[in-house]
Amino acid sequence: MAAAESEVSSALCAQFLSFSAKDTAAKWLQATDLPKEVYLHLARYVPKIYCLGPNLNPQSEDLLSQLLLQAPLEWYLCGEEPSVGLAKLEQNNQPSQLCGHVFKVGEPTYSCRECAADPTCVLCMQCFLGSVHKEHRYRMTTSGGGGFCDCGDTEAWKKGPYCQKHEPNISDSSQEDPLANMSAEMIARTYNVFSIILKYAVDMLTWDKEDELPQGLEPPERGDTYYCMLFNDEVHTYEQVIYTLQKAVSCTQKEAVSFATTVDRDGRKSVRYGDFQFCEQAKSVIVRNTSRQTKPLRVQVMHSSVVAHQCFALKALTWLGHIIRYSDALRRILCQVGLQKGPEGENSLVDTLMLCDSKMWKGARNIYHQLFMSSLLMDLKYKKLFAIQFARNYERLQSDYVKDDHDREFSITDLSVQIFTVPSLARMLITEENLMTTIIRTFVDHLRHRDLQGRFQFERYTAQQAFKFRRVQSLIGDLKYVLISYPTEWTDKLRDKYLEGFDAFLELLKCMQGMDPVVRQVGQHIEMEPEWEAAFTLQMKLTHIISMMQEWCASDERVLIEAYKKCLTALTHCHSGFTDGEQPITLSMCGHSVDTIRYCVSQEKVSIHLPVSRLLAGLHVLLSKTEVAYRFPEQLPLSELSPPMLIEHPLRCLVLCAQVHAGMWRRNGFSLVNQIYYYHNVKCRVEMFDKDLIMLQAGASMMDPNHFLMIVLSRFELFHIFSSADCRKRYNRENANKDVVQQNSTLIEEMLHLIMMVVGERFSAGIGQVENCDELKREIIHQLCIRPMAHSELVKALPENENKETGMERVIDSVALFKKPGVTGRGLYELRPECAKQFNLYFHHYSRADQSKAEEAQRKLKRQNGEDSALPPPVLPPFCPLFASLVNILQCDVLLGMLGAVLQWAVEPSGGHWSESMLQRVLHLIGMALLEEQQQMESSCDDNEITFNFTLKISRPGEAPSNTPSILALLETLQNAPHLEVHKDMIRWILKMVVSIKTMRERTAAAPSSEGSGHCQEETVRDKDKAERKRKAEMARLRREKIMAQMSEMQRHFINENKELFQQSLEELDASTSASQDHSPSSWDSALVCVGPRRWRAGGGERRQVVTCILCQEEQEIRPDSRAMVLAAFVQRSTVMSKNRRRPPHIPESYDPLFMHPDLSFGAHTGSCGHIMHSHCWQRYFEAVQAKEQRRQQRLRVHTSYDVENGEFLCPLCECLSNTVIPLLPLTKTSCCIGEQPGLPLWLNTISQQIKALQSAHRKAKPTNAATTDETKAVEDYPPPEGFRLDHTPMNPYSSSIKEMLTTFGTATYKVGLKVHPNEQDPRVPIMCWGSCAYTIQSIERLLVDEEKPLFGSLPCRQDDCLRSLARFGSACWTVSCLSTVQNHFIRLLSALVPDSQVENSPCILDVDMFHLLVSLVLSYSAVHCQDSSGLSVDAAQLHFIHLVTVAHLVQILLTSVPAELTMEQESGGVEHEEEESVCLFYNTLKTLLGSSLCDVSSGWHLWHCVKAGILPFLRGAALFFHHLNGVPTPPDLHALGASEWETLCSYLCLPSNLLQLYYNHQDVFEPLLQGWCSHPGMRLCLQSPEILISFPRESNRLIELPEDYSALINQASSFTCPKSGGDKSRAPTLCLVCGTMLCSQSYCCQTELEGEDVGACTAHTFVCGAGVGIFLRVRECQVLFLAGKTKGCFYAPPYLDDYGETDQGLRRGNPLHLCRERYRKIQKLWRQHSITEEIGHAQEANQTLVGIDWQHL
Ligand SMILES: [Zn+2]
Ligand SMILES: [Zn+2]
Ligand SMILES: [Zn+2]
Ligand SMILES: [Zn+2]
Ligand SMILES: [Zn+2]
Ligand SMILES: [Zn+2]
Ligand SMILES: [Zn+2]
Repeated sequence: MAAAESEVSSALCAQFLSFSAKDTAAKWLQATDLPKEVYLHLARYVPKIYCLGPNLNPQSEDLLSQLLLQAPLEWYLCGEEPSVGLAKLEQNNQPSQLCGHVFKVGEPTYSCRECAADPTCVLCMQCFLGSVHKEHRYRMTTSGGGGFCDCGDTEAWKKGPYCQKHEPNISDSSQEDPLANMSAEMIARTYNVFSIILKYAVDMLTWDKEDELPQGLEPPERGDTYYCMLFNDEVHTYEQVIYTLQKAVSCTQKEAVSFATTVDRDGRKSVRYGDFQFCEQAKSVIVRNTSRQTKPLRVQVMHSSVVAHQCFALKALTWLGHIIRYSDALRRILCQVGLQKGPEGENSLVDTLMLCDSKMWKGARNIYHQLFMSSLLMDLKYKKLFAIQFARNYERLQSDYVKDDHDREFSITDLSVQIFTVPSLARMLITEENLMTTIIRTFVDHLRHRDLQGRFQFERYTAQQAFKFRRVQSLIGDLKYVLISYPTEWTDKLRDKYLEGFDAFLELLKCMQGMDPVVRQVGQHIEMEPEWEAAFTLQMKLTHIISMMQEWCASDERVLIEAYKKCLTALTHCHSGFTDGEQPITLSMCGHSVDTIRYCVSQEKVSIHLPVSRLLAGLHVLLSKTEVAYRFPEQLPLSELSPPMLIEHPLRCLVLCAQVHAGMWRRNGFSLVNQIYYYHNVKCRVEMFDKDLIMLQAGASMMDPNHFLMIVLSRFELFHIFSSADCRKRYNRENANKDVVQQNSTLIEEMLHLIMMVVGERFSAGIGQVENCDELKREIIHQLCIRPMAHSELVKALPENENKETGMERVIDSVALFKKPGVTGRGLYELRPECAKQFNLYFHHYSRADQSKAEEAQRKLKRQNGEDSALPPPVLPPFCPLFASLVNILQCDVLLGMLGAVLQWAVEPSGGHWSESMLQRVLHLIGMALLEEQQQMESSCDDNEITFNFTLKISRPGEAPSNTPSILALLETLQNAPHLEVHKDMIRWILKMVVSIKTMRERTAAAPSSEGSGHCQEETVRDKDKAERKRKAEMARLRREKIMAQMSEMQRHFINENKELFQQSLEELDASTSASQDHSPSSWDSALVCVGPRRWRAGGGERRQVVTCILCQEEQEIRPDSRAMVLAAFVQRSTVMSKNRRRPPHIPESYDPLFMHPDLSFGAHTGSCGHIMHSHCWQRYFEAVQAKEQRRQQRLRVHTSYDVENGEFLCPLCECLSNTVIPLLPLTKTSCCIGEQPGLPLWLNTISQQIKALQSAHRKAKPTNAATTDETKAVEDYPPPEGFRLDHTPMNPYSSSIKEMLTTFGTATYKVGLKVHPNEQDPRVPIMCWGSCAYTIQSIERLLVDEEKPLFGSLPCRQDDCLRSLARFGSACWTVSCLSTVQNHFIRLLSALVPDSQVENSPCILDVDMFHLLVSLVLSYSAVHCQDSSGLSVDAAQLHFIHLVTVAHLVQILLTSVPAELTMEQESGGVEHEEEESVCLFYNTLKTLLGSSLCDVSSGWHLWHCVKAGILPFLRGAALFFHHLNGVPTPPDLHALGASEWETLCSYLCLPSNLLQLYYNHQDVFEPLLQGWCSHPGMRLCLQSPEILISFPRESNRLIELPEDYSALINQASSFTCPKSGGDKSRAPTLCLVCGTMLCSQSYCCQTELEGEDVGACTAHTFVCGAGVGIFLRVRECQVLFLAGKTKGCFYAPPYLDDYGETDQGLRRGNPLHLCRERYRKIQKLWRQHSITEEIGHAQEANQTLVGIDWQHL
């Protein structure tokens, strides 16, 4: 196929060889009708280059179009060789000051929180790094694609608009006309070319005929060649399209995926090429298949020449974009051409494109949008002209967009952000084009569905209207851009146009005022939850707009006053029917009366949406802040206000909330509850709840407080309770209906709270005399009074402005202290202690839950400080003049009446129908009033100014009924009431306040009098009181601490405690034995040897091991003949230690695992939680789990965190993931050395005789092969040496249950390790067990080194148990395998060291991991030894094995690990001369044997150093192995890190510390072996390619290095393209932390088939890189991903933290992130200790939703 295509293109090339671009251009220069000539040229060549077959060939198309089409254009344009001409242009170019870098999807962008004009102003990474902002507080996000860098735009930045690179050159004036440097001819030619080509492109892209071309472009010859073109839509899913395509054009699934991907990316793709009939047929199939539920996919059958011209049109636009980069002059000409109107005022080309935008396919739109960005938006003059055109077309473009189904990023309307966010342009468009009004009107026009009063009605929206509603919301975004920075200077025209826009906005708000009204449901529950979300969505979207409107108004007094008037008119208009149908009534109480209407929230319609009155409230506060309000309040338009009208609707809304709290609206369902929730929520409250409260304050400040309160009482439907003459009594009696009483209690509480808020909330500038930041400080203080909080929690609790800023950073340090996080958790802010006194229990933004948490926390704090527990109200700032009269509410008669009533109810507890909360609120109100009085007295110097005399009023007896006790008297009574213990402190505080105020009054009235003795007395009483309290508090604290300590001791690692409990018996025995030996005199220690005939043996009686089963709690002794005890274990494949991740995975069926390669590329790791069970108890447990799982799967299709079918289960005690069990075995009894054991030569001799005998016996046993060839060999029958009995079948020492468990674990290791089906007969079963033992020991040895822990004594006992069981299991597993198979393994293993002519394919020693060899030799030897009765001891054999392997390893190290250049400085004063000499000698022997392939090293010190370092891990591993295998205690020197490690190890392993002695002591034996090793054919091969050699010591693998700054990763990922779909951006770039590969995750394009299933790139990668386990970083999400197998996974906190000590999963907050090395090390440790799978298991158990995720598709 490829060959055929290249033939075609070369044929084409030949055809066009004679073409000369220069000549063509020359011809054009002469032409009289240039457009015609050029069109002729295009008509001739375009169809010959593009679209010649079913498969496009971009390379040759590009080449040819460059040659035949672009080249002549460039020649014509330059008038000379284009490369020369363009270079000249480039020289004269004045580079734009704007960076203009267009962002790729996922590229990092930066915005400065301090300097950016708005959050849409962003920098590219390069500019950012060269800017001043990198030292500021910045925000980092990833781009969604599109948009460009704002570097150089002076309007975008308050400070530092240029980076170093784009700093303008001051010498050249930027005002200069770019055309000044260009010749007139060139200008003319450029004009010609640009206008022809741009027109051509516009014509072609907007062309809608399928079979015809514009005039002048008809091809000379026309064939029956068509394309079936499939277009993108957002309705059909990927799967639908893929399925349909497979049917319609009969392609493979892969091709269909590729088509679908391209359609999604480019917006269209030809899916079939051929004659018309052929394409038409495909079209009808597609349409038929996709039209069932929805509108069909769009398909067109287009003539190939049309498609060809469209392809070239795109190319031409790209070319234009490319060529204007050479010169600002060219750019300007293109802009001019584009915006020029036709001769008869027709639309300009730019207009034409914009207006056809929604008809074009995605690919075309992208290309012309980019051209706009690089031309029109980069030229400051034309940007303005373009902006005007854009604004003029605005309404039409938006309407097209609303109907279009493409996302906004593919729409021309998306360019609004580039234009409207430039303040000067936005201002110009408002004044010149009335943009603000246009946007608002367009928006309102799209929401036509209204009710009779003209209000929005979302309830009856159809799906399509709902869709439209979603899209039209983007207009609000545009409005936000326009308003985002308010003007600093106003012109009259701007005022006019702004107010016109404000009018339009009021029209919008009027449609919202009173929408979605609710009526209380009584009797029946509502049938259907009414729709409420649309209205709230609108409210939320408009929240910032409303705030910005107010900001604009606030910046100009004239505008403010005008807007206020307009708003008032609008409100009056809305409520023209304010009293409609409602009867006027008169309320009287406490000698006051007021006229109002009869209205009950609980019976009539009420709406939560009141944006007009809330806007008025906002403007009122702004007015109150102005100077006019202070100096000439009479000039404000306040006279027209009707306070009762102002408060009416906000009050109804607040009463509604109270009634909902009181449970009166239960039957109205959740929609109302949700609305109330949002009304108070931080996202909405600024323009909802807060403003309603302000409106009440504004209204009340203009009314008689008694009147205000009476109206409030009436709306709360409580008036009748408090107005009756005997209200103090009556309430008690009215207990007819318990529900009603309960409701009324809650309502009274809510109403009292409302009064507190009306009087007490003065922290907005304009209401109280405060600074702007005071409000924020107070908000933070009250959040932190609940509990210490993380930065992100605080941000969530604070309202954000339109720039997504809370302003918190400016004030946080003045109210809070920061505490850094540890390795887990996050940083927290704590309240500064001195701020606690500002705590207000009735803070208006507290929810009830917040309030009780805060109350508890603050009381606790006070107790801890030894203070009383009263939480009195805080001191408040004074009101602004407009609101000053509000304080009088506190001392008005109606309130005093209410307070008295509640107190009276509290005095008579028998009544019962009052609540403590009610009393608490009353006390708080009294406290507020007293503080107010105190404040007034302290701040005023003149007595006459003090209008507030609360103390006097509460001392007077009540009026009605007469002679009731005064409030003060009631309080005094309550002070001693036993049922009010909790409030005692508060009452006491109030009484003290009263005394002190009275004293103050007396003092001011009657000159300074001496302090009364009573006062003194009181003082001392108080002191005593305090001291006593303090002492009690201290005692309580101590007691608490003690209890806490006990508790935490008990709770600490509950599981560990249990584990220890269960293992106690085992440990005790171990401890008792080892204690007696370990700490015996040191002379004994020196003889501590773990291997060989001299090894340590448990003296005296056999050690008994008794353990307890965690399931049945019975004790059991570990004996060969007893019931089996097992450890829960988890076997997993591992590549953690791999030194070669490129090695392809083994083929499980044929892989021979006998020899482990030194690169350790794949291993089987076994871990255990250390929990012991009876094997039969475990079996019963496992069967139960299986049965349960089956039932569960039938019932609901949920998965568990473990895979029962694969033998997985959770440890019944600790829930640790396990997949098998290891049997616990006793020490193998070995007879003590009988007599002298043979030395190495003799022993080798005996062994080889035994082997020969075995070999001939095995051959005889094979009946099939005995036919021909073996006949001759059979003759060489080797008689077995003395004492070796071939016919002896050893007796299996183990009980049947142990044997069963031996098989179980062996099979599991085999199955998991090789990824095969279980087969207990497979000869590889024992090999896998030995391998797993060796691999696990090696991995633990590495871990100890990495953690800098000593070899012994630091492992948790579960690992010791696991290793012990593994080693002993390894030496016993042969008993359940075929004897001759194991013997054969042994023979092959030994032949790697001692050449054996009978064994073929023995590996070269450089290809063998020596530790694995040692372990396998030792463990497999038992199978040979069992037939030996000559007295040869196992111990002797073990010693000889370790000697042999050690020498081989020495050779291996010297051959692979001696550096060619000595970089290390030799340390002087070495004392190991003997070692150095012998190693030199040995090295030279090797050199002689191998010739030149070894480098020259003469330094013995260096050689010895290499050897020691290289072999140490092997020796440490061997020590661990023999310690566990033989149960030998460990030498104390290895329990600590120290210099003596080498010597101790050597002696423990019975090795000379000069290891070379092993060789020289038996040179006669070793010399031939050495020769054999060196002459192995593999040896030379290995040494010739040193890059594949593994050198020793093998370094521990680490996770990859991560950059310090997270944005470096984002940047890296943004330039990463999907490796499968030719340069496409990857949606979810994911980094493998093990090997550093970047993957295209979670995407169709990179799915591959693995074991017959489609899996995502990550899962596929884990099988290559991590044997099924993977650790990834999802770069866009900033999230670590753990994967195991195909079905398991979890997310894990990333190792990146922001400055506040928090991670940012999902990159939502955008704070700069930095690498936290500690946390990264923690992840690395999890990996190194093979705990990833376990971690996933725990995460999934804790969070069931994780189980449902399709991990395999990531
Ligand atoms: Zn930039
Ligand atoms: Zn820059
Ligand atoms: Zn900055
Ligand atoms: Zn048991
Ligand atoms: Zn466990
Ligand atoms: Zn990897
Ligand atoms: Zn991909």
